[in-house]
Amino acid sequence: MRIENHRYDQAAQAKLRKAQRKIARRQNKKSKRRRQAILLLQKVHQHVANQRKDFQHKLSTQLVQNFGLIAVEDLNIKGLSAGILAKAVHDVAWSTFLNMLAYKAENAGRQLLKVDPQYTSQECPNCHALEKKPLSERVHRCDCGLTIGRDHAAALVILGRGLRLQAQTMEQSVLVA
Ligand SMILES: [Zn+2]
Repeated sequence: MRIENHRYDQAAQAKLRKAQRKIARRQNKKSKRRRQAILLLQKVHQHVANQRKDFQHKLSTQLVQNFGLIAVEDLNIKGLSAGILAKAVHDVAWSTFLNMLAYKAENAGRQLLKVDPQYTSQECPNCHALEKKPLSERVHRCDCGLTIGRDHAAALVILGRGLRLQAQTMEQSVLVA
């Protein structure tokens, strides 16, 4: 299942920038129009946050309904290292989404596996060779002969790690029993 998130995010960013520019144009700090512009920005922020939450709710419900096993990149392993704001906002959204997914998966008796997020976009899901590719490179082409979309390849790597994690967990529980 492939989900597009970019378009809605870009539209939201454009709306936010427009509202911010409006405030910048109102130089007089005490003016009524500046106050109105600030209120507008707050409204746009709220709208964007609501839209994101709505999207996350729909997506997490859909995932839990359609799949018995869900593998995701574990945010805690990656760490919140990057200082760029967009990245931070993205990480916050991702952690909110993971929490949503976790409680819905648990309620529905689904398995949620959090895997090591390192090199998921560089590893070949077929032969496990690592090849660094720039973000602009949208296709995964490997010497082993595999050619698929970049995101598709990363998803397969994450799923593979999830399945290995599941196998390990099952082995351990067999040993304990
Ligand atoms: Zn390969």
